[in-house]
Parts: sequence; C-alpha cells; structure tokens
Amino acid sequence: MNGMKETHILIVGGGPVGLALAADLGRRGIECILVEQSDGTIYHPRANTVNSRTMEFCRRWGIAEDVRQAGTPPDFPLDIVYCTGLEGHMLARVDRPTYGGHKPLPTTPERSQRCNQLFFDPLMRELAASFSSVQLRYRCRFESFTETPDSVLCELHDLANDRRETIKARFLVACCAGRSSVPRALGVRWEGKPVLSYHLNVFLKIKQLWTRHDKGKAAFYFFVDESGGGPSLIELDGRELWRLGINTGQHPVAPESINIPAIVKEFVGADIPYEIVSILPWTCRSIVADTWRRGNAFLAGDAVHQHSPSGGFGMNTGLGDAVDLAWKLAAVVAGWGGPALLDSYEIERKPVASRIVREATENQAPLGDPATRALIRAKGQEGDRARRIIGENILRERTRVFVSDGLVLGYRYEPSPIIVPDGTPAPVETVSQYAPTARPGSRAPHAWLAEGRSTLDLFGDGFVLLAFDGAADVGSPIVEAARARGMPLKMLAIEDDAIANLYERRLVLVRPDGHVAWRDDAPPKDPLALVDRVRGATH
Ligand SMILES: Cc1cc2nc3c(=O)[nH]c(=O)nc-3n(C[C@H](O)[C@H](O)[C@H](O)COP(=O)(O)OP(=O)(O)OC[C@H]3O[C@@H](n4cnc5c(N)ncnc54)[C@H](O)[C@@H]3O)c2cc1C
Repeated sequence: MNGMKETHILIVGGGPVGLALAADLGRRGIECILVEQSDGTIYHPRANTVNSRTMEFCRRWGIAEDVRQAGTPPDFPLDIVYCTGLEGHMLARVDRPTYGGHKPLPTTPERSQRCNQLFFDPLMRELAASFSSVQLRYRCRFESFTETPDSVLCELHDLANDRRETIKARFLVACCAGRSSVPRALGVRWEGKPVLSYHLNVFLKIKQLWTRHDKGKAAFYFFVDESGGGPSLIELDGRELWRLGINTGQHPVAPESINIPAIVKEFVGADIPYEIVSILPWTCRSIVADTWRRGNAFLAGDAVHQHSPSGGFGMNTGLGDAVDLAWKLAAVVAGWGGPALLDSYEIERKPVASRIVREATENQAPLGDPATRALIRAKGQEGDRARRIIGENILRERTRVFVSDGLVLGYRYEPSPIIVPDGTPAPVETVSQYAPTARPGSRAPHAWLAEGRSTLDLFGDGFVLLAFDGAADVGSPIVEAARARGMPLKMLAIEDDAIANLYERRLVLVRPDGHVAWRDDAPPKDPLALVDRVRGATH
C-alpha cells in the first residue's frame, strides 16, 4: 500500500452525471478523482433538454446564465410541429414561445432550456475543473476494483501513457452508463425491457432550413407516416445543427443499410442541401437497475436508468442522482453524516427514476388507429378527415410530453429514512401539474424574497432552518442540537406572510440538496433525535 495514491471519492465516467457529481463534491471541498476513458470531446449530440430542476442546480453552481448563452438562442421558437413531412401535410402544432421576453414563472426561478450536450457537457467540465479538490483524468480507463471494509481499491489504465495504477478511495461512484465493470461486479440486474426499439441518430448541418418550407421555425418536427410514427428532426443550436432520429425497428441494423438520403428527401425536402456530420446507432430501453449500491460502491445516471429520450428526462434524472448523492458522501467524509444517509440514496432515487422510466415509455405509443393512419397522406376529404383526427389525438395525448412540471419539480423522497413525515396526506401525482408544497420529502418551493433572489438561493450548502412568523427564538434548540452533532445548519428568519403560507409551518428544515427534511410549528421534544435522523445517524 505504501505510496498508493488515495482520494475520498473515485468517479468513473466524465459524462454529465460524473461531472455534476465531481462539481457538487468540489463545491463542498471534497477531494475526488474522475476518470474518463475518452479525451472528453463530444462528437455526437444527445440530450437537449436542460429542465427547470437541472437549471435550478445550475443556478446553485453559478452557471445558469452560461447554459442560457450556450443553448438555443432566446428568440428561437420552441414550437413542436407534427406533420407528414416538411413539404407534406400539417397535423398539429404545439405553440411554445421563445425563451426570451418571458415573465418569471411562479414555480421556479429557472425556466427549462434547450442546451445540447455538445455545449452542456463542456460547461460541466469547466465547472468541475474549477474546484481545486477535483482532479479530472481523461484517457484513463477504470478496469476493476476490490473492496476492503472501509475503502475501494481501484485499478486504472492510463491510456495516454499505457500505465497501470491503483488508487485507494473511500467511495467509488460509477457514472459509466453501465459500460464499466462496476455494475457487473455489483451483481446488478435490470428491471424492465432491455430493448424497445433500435435507432439511428443522424447529426446534420442544414443552413436556414426554415426558409425552405412552410411549417415555420420549430424546435421539433415529428414526422408521422402510416405506421403512426416516423423520423423526427430536432434543432440543436437554433442556427444550422439538426438531429434526424430514425427508428430502425425491432432488430439491430447496420447503419450502412439505411438509406439516409432517401429519408431526408421524403421527410425533410427533395432539394435541401445538407451535410451529415456523424451517425450514432442507439438502443431505446426501458430499464432501472435493481441495485444502486453495494458497500462503498455506488451507481448513478444511465448506469441505473435508461429510457426513451421522449420528454427529455434522461440526463436530468442522472443529474438528480448526482445532487442527491454528493451531499451525502460529503457529509460522511466530513464525519457528520451517518450510515443511513448512504442507505437513503437508492431508497430516494430509485422510485423517482422508475416513475420517469414508466412515463417516458408510455409516451411511445403509435399515434391514431391503423385505419385512420392508412389515410394520413391521402388526398381530398378522406385524407383531411384522417389528418384532423390524428392532429386532435396528438394535442390530447402528446402535449404532456412537453409539459411535465409535475415530474420535474413535484418528485419527492418518500419513504426515506432521513425524512420525517408530518402526517399530511400525499399530494396527487400528475405528470404535467406541479402544486408547490413544503411537505417533508418535497423540493422546498420557490418564492421570490427580493428582486432576483429566490428562496432556493438559500439552500445548497449545509442544512437551513427557515423560521417564519417570529419563530427564530423557538428554533434555537434545533440549532444547538446540530452544533452538538457537528452538522452544519444555519437558521434564517423570514418575515413574509406569503412565503410563510407557502411553507405552512413556522419551522422548516431544508437539506443541503433543497428538499424538506422536517417541518412543524415548534421544535420536537428531542431535537437531538431529529438531527440524528436527518443526518442519517439513526433509523
Ligand atoms: C441518441 C441519444 C439521444 C439522447 N437524447 C436525450 C434527450 O433528448 N434528453 C435527455 O435527457 N437524455 C437524452 N439522452 C440520454 C443522455 O444522453 C444520457 O442520459 C446522459 O448522457 C447520461 O449521462 P451519464 O453521465 O450517466 O452517461 P454518459 O453520458 O453515457 O457518460 C458515461 C461516460 O462514462 C465513460 N466510461 C464508461 N466506462 C468507463 C470506464 N471503464 N472507464 C472510464 N470511463 C468510462 C464513457 O466514456 C462516458 O463518457 C440521449 C441518449 C442517446 C444515446
């Protein structure tokens, strides 16, 4: 062991989830090493949607404005068009205004953005690299690990120098999209359907596309043919970059066997000049890992959940894993976190991921019935009627794909060993509607404190005890209990009736990740027991 390099946390994978975990640990001053087998260059576009919860994390990390600047320009319409082709028939249009010129939303300080991973991942990389406790090692492959009772010995292969190295880490987190040896070593089994369909993503450059058809500027064009599905064309930069998505069916096919020019001609346009930048085959799955942790080894992101890109949840759910795990690992490393903090990771995040995987899969059903679909490109009244029926069906069934505040902001950690329920009934879960609540387990709701300052800006470091309605005096036993246990906690008095009504109790304890851990009008009889519960020191 002499001379062996040591770190607190070794992260496998420098995708958005590994980078977010490194950044959130770095922000907390925790030493970590991230190893990524590639050189970190993003060659092919994947996720576009940076949803409002992820934007709230970016706000906390100080990069929300950078994401806005790097993504789709503020004057680009975010409309969704369903049609038989850009030169074909219109079926439905979901109007979604541009990002620019909006009034702030009542439920979040951060609107969802479109910022493709081509631009988002480099921002996350820059953020993670900005912390002195974070080391990013590219072209370094994680090979295997062995566990000791209090550490993980990780075997690495430095590809640049062809050198092998062992690093001793207290914790290992694989954000490897399931591609490293960690999931197999943990005995992970996938629950769900390993294959829904096979796809090709074609990264295209087409200049000024909107000047070449009559469907208008839109962020998404979904083409619908007689099968009830069809290719899709998605804007990536609001200028010239597009992603053509082609469903190639139930069996893997060689990319060369797909006639991409014919598909472009049929759906995008006969005479449109375009350039193919790259092609990526991928498999649409609907799976959640049965195990997210064993001992000191954890999994996060695509390594534990994979599903259809429909709804744009994939990367965002992974970032939610990273944010949930980072403060817990940091607390245990710092010495004030107990073992139930680590147990709570899978207990809290797996149900959230399972719900999202279910929703993203349900979005996949074909549009309309076969008889109506058969007439979708027919001329005359018969065709017009079929298109009207399918268009109505789209607006009824598919709008929720793009309005998912209930999922994005309304997810809650329940049950959880580190959340203290207050006995209030659980709110009804819906996909589209988010009803703000400070019920324990929920994301502490947003309200403006002053111009440009949200309640969410109060959270992110240690615990925060919000004291409303002159409750600062009665809250002090909790502050003292936290001090006795070494748990970082700040009490903040807020004198604002509207916010007090929103939070519903005079004392509300919010965790470092912004979720409510406990609330009441007075401190509990045993404040030490409360502090021990929320820091994971008791079950
Ligand atoms: C075609 C496509 C389209 C998508 N579209 C969307 C979308 O619209 N919206 C959305 O939210 N999501 C989308 N996704 C999903 C999204 O890209 C992923 O959810 C997200 O990238 C997951 O991040 P991750 O960090 O978990 O994994 P990844 O981004 O896959 O990163 C994993 C990293 O681990 C590295 N790695 C693996 N093994 C090792 C090893 N042994 N040693 C070192 N490094 C290793 C890999 O090189 C890789 O860089 C899409 C995915 C695909 C494939």
